[in-house]
Formats: sequence, C-alpha cells, structure tokens
Amino acid sequence: MTKFMKKEKVIIIGAGFSGLAAASVLAKEGFAVTVLEKNSTPGGRARKFAENGFTFDMGPSWYWMPDVFEKFFALFNKTPQDYYHLLRLDPSYRFYFGKDDIVDVPATFNDVVEIFEKEEAGAGVALNKFLVEAEYKYKIAMSKFVYKPGLSMFEFAQPEMLASVFRLDMFSSFEKHLKQYFKSPRLRQMLEFPILFLGGTAKNTPALYSLMNYGDIKLGTWYPVGGMYSVVEGMVELAASLGVKFVYNSPVEKLEVNKGKINYVTAAAERYEANYILATADYEHVEQHLLPDGYKSYSKKYWDSRVLSPSSLIFFLGIDTKLEGIAHHTLFFDQDLGKHSEAIYENPGWPENPSLYFSCTSRTDSCVAPEGMENLFVLIPVAPGLDDTEAIREKYFQIILERFKHLTGQDISKNIVFKRSYAHADFEKDYNAFKGNAYGLANTLLQTAFLKPKMKSKKVKNLFYAGQLTAPGPGVPPALISGEMAARLILKESKSGK
Ligand SMILES: Cc1cc2nc3c(=O)[nH]c(=O)nc-3n(C[C@H](O)[C@H](O)[C@H](O)COP(=O)(O)OP(=O)(O)OC[C@H]3O[C@@H](n4cnc5c(N)ncnc54)[C@H](O)[C@@H]3O)c2cc1C
Repeated sequence: MTKFMKKEKVIIIGAGFSGLAAASVLAKEGFAVTVLEKNSTPGGRARKFAENGFTFDMGPSWYWMPDVFEKFFALFNKTPQDYYHLLRLDPSYRFYFGKDDIVDVPATFNDVVEIFEKEEAGAGVALNKFLVEAEYKYKIAMSKFVYKPGLSMFEFAQPEMLASVFRLDMFSSFEKHLKQYFKSPRLRQMLEFPILFLGGTAKNTPALYSLMNYGDIKLGTWYPVGGMYSVVEGMVELAASLGVKFVYNSPVEKLEVNKGKINYVTAAAERYEANYILATADYEHVEQHLLPDGYKSYSKKYWDSRVLSPSSLIFFLGIDTKLEGIAHHTLFFDQDLGKHSEAIYENPGWPENPSLYFSCTSRTDSCVAPEGMENLFVLIPVAPGLDDTEAIREKYFQIILERFKHLTGQDISKNIVFKRSYAHADFEKDYNAFKGNAYGLANTLLQTAFLKPKMKSKKVKNLFYAGQLTAPGPGVPPALISGEMAARLILKESKSGK
C-alpha cells in the first residue's frame, strides 16, 4: 500500500492475545485496524481483576517459550523488556506427591538431573537424552511448521520435515515415548503435566509435544512482574502506538455477507465497514452464531465431534496471612492423575479426587496482594460441557480446603478475606466459549496442524480466523503465533488483489 492509497480496513473480533498480535502486524503493514471486543478490557482469557487490594490474572500464569515473545516484539524492533520486566522463577515449580512428599523443580538444569537421578537410577542420563530429542523437535517445529497456517498438508511436505518425520514422533503417543525413558510414574507425571494442562492426555497426544518439556525445563519458567496481564498491557501499548483502534463493550452480533464477502460488521448497534475480517473469538461461536446459514465452513456435527481442551474450575482467593509450603506454582499430584484425566477426556464428569494447581504470584511479587497476605489462584482442570452449579463449585471448594490442610498442615478457611469462583458458565458468558472451554481445541493427532479448523474461511472470501481453536493451538505463545500468521494471510490476500 502506498501512502496515497486509501487504507484497507480490517475488523478484528476479540482483543485476546491472538487478536492483539494480529492487530499490530496488520497496522504496521498499513491497514486501518479496528478491534471490537465484547468485554470492557483487553486480554480475553488473560484478563485480570483487582479486588480488596488483591490482583488476579484470570487465566494464564505460566510464561513459557520466552523466545516466541522475543520474536514477536522483534517484528517491531522492540523487546519484551521495553514493556515488562521478566523474572526467572527458581524453583520453577513444586510438586506435592503426598504429605511431606515434595519435589521442587529447580531452574538450573544440572539440579533437575540430580533430582531425576534421586528418583530413579539412570533417570538423569535418560532426561538428558529425552531433552536432546525434545530440543530437536522444538527447533524443527519452530522453524518449519509452527509458523505455518496449516491450510494444506503440502505446507508440511518439505524435504527436511519428511526426512525427520519419525524423529519428530508425530505418530507415537507421548505416554509411550515417556515409558521408553522413565520407569518412575512420578517422573512421568512431572513431564506429562504441561500437556495435561494445555489440552491433552499423554495417551492421545503425539510424542512430538515433548517439545513442551524442552520449553519448560531448558528455556525456563518466567514471571512478568505485575502478572501475565503486564504482557497484555505491553501488547495493547504497542498496537495503539501503531494506530490500532480499540472499541470495548462491543460484542459483534452480525456479519453481513454479500456475494461471498463480508462488507459490514455490526457490534453494539454500530455498523463497521470492512475489507477483511479476522475472527479471534472462539471459532465455533463465530461460525455457528454470527455467520448466516450457507456461509459456515463446518457443521454443528463437526463441532460436536471435536476434542476440546479442558475447562477449569477456578477459585480466586485473598488470604490474610502468609502461606507456608507452597511455591509460586504448586501442583498437587497426590491423587491418581490418570483417573482425573479419564474424567476429562474418556468419561467426562466431575473428577472424584482431582489434582490441583495453585498459583500464588504474591510469593514473588509484592504488588499483587496487601502486605503480609497472599493472592491465591486455585485451578482444577475439568471436562468441558459439564453441569456447573453453585453447589458443585462449593463441594470442590471444601475438597480444596481439606486437601490443603492435610498436605501442608494449614487450615486457611478462617483466613479467606476474598473469594470468587469461575467455571464453565463464566467462560461461556464472558468469552462465548464453546461448551465453556478454557483452552480451546486439544492438540490430538487428528487435530494438529492442517487437521485443525482452517485459518481461512472456505465459504467467505475475506474472513480469516486466529486463536486457540485454530493453528497452532492452545497457549499464549501459540496465540501470538496464530495472530501473526492470520495477519500474514490477510496481507497476502490483499497483495494478490483478490
Ligand atoms: C484458566 C486458564 C489458564 C491458562 N493458563 C495458561 C498458561 O499458564 N500459559 C499459557 O501459555 N496459556 C494458558 N492458557 C491459555 C491461554 O490463555 C489462551 O490460549 C490464550 O490466551 C487464548 O487467546 P485467544 O486470543 O485465542 O483467545 P481469547 O483470549 O479467548 O480472546 C478472544 C476474545 O474474543 C472476545 N469475544 C468473544 N466473542 C466476541 C464477540 N461476539 N464480539 C467481540 N469479541 C468477542 C472475547 O471476549 C475475548 O476477549 C490458559 C487459559 C485459561 C483460561
């Protein structure tokens, strides 16, 4: 586009990480970008709220794959440090396998090796070998296919990828892969948890995703001071500096299709003209609820047959004392993790003895809770589409308090000065989340790369999709990549003059 040409207009639906990433890329390329967001603040599932002096990130808490954030900001000759300050956590996280049975995973790799060796003779050497393979997968994935939109399988038919298809372990399960290296079920659980929390079981996830273990153990677990929302704020600042216009409290209600193209988008009684639409709200919501019949790429049956990542039951708790026995990230794996996974994927239902995840950023950051207090975020991953009632939430709250008391010896029931719960119904109400999902579509073999719902509509010429229900998948780094890729598809389409 030369400066004398009228700017082409892009409407982005949703100000989550993928929408924010796309907005900056498109604005830098000269498009007039307007982001329409349903909620009153940006960030999508990564919003925050503050109450009674406590600040809570509402979604993501693990800052992994720092290279992806660096690569994104470098597109604009910036660095993450221009917008937020990162700390490397040490220990990266803590596991409880039972009362007085605690394993801290340190930041220094040699110390991790020692821990593995202590658990199982030879497991330190095995970890080294496992991570050499995981590093290979990470590097090939990052350079060859994560940044591909997955429109066609031919994108992946590159000589290097075909040559390495077996080494990438695309067709064997993560579970089987782990068993080749480690006998100890505890060690396997310690390596499985990243994929469980982001949308798969070890059984149904390709071993390719051991790349996440390289990201975690080698590249480190980081914390942006102020919380994950600092990253959202940084991205909004960047986008605004490039001229992106944000319109909040503007749920998109209608996409008007004329001769196979969307010309207008209606949100909060305003009609916006558009040359291109990028939908980053949940794909199913846009397809099934905003597009007129005849223009949907996928049927209701298709969506009902997708394997979704989990939803979550979350408690945001303000605690009026300092806690003992927990780290910034603590995973309570004292119950049967396999049974919990089954209740998410195989026989969806509320888990009997759930594993728990606690995030307590006030362990690291004094700004997120009043002095001498803690902001506690407790999460139970659960199947999407479950019956979500107050009574059920309360039942799990009591389970959490009991387990915490048993494992750490602290009864916090009298120290809770703030409490809010969040689950399926909230995900649906706040984000139009399909079946109340938290993390989008699971990364199963049949839902990876070109087998995901496509980033370009099959029926509407100027409609594109990004976010955690399309390529490359759930998580903040994939959302950034998704937004960038979708923006590049729009740029390509615009240059082709179609
Ligand atoms: C509880 C939880 C914990 C997580 N933990 C981690 C973690 O530790 N690390 C990690 O990397 N990832 C984590 N994730 C995943 C990560 O947060 C997401 O993958 C990512 O934020 C998704 O970004 P997105 O842009 O695809 O979607 P979203 O963030 O959902 O953005 C979509 C936006 O579209 C808006 N929208 C919906 N409908 C409309 C409409 N009709 N009109 C206008 N706007 C609309 C929504 O309000 C939302 O703002 C977690 C997610 C959750 C929920």
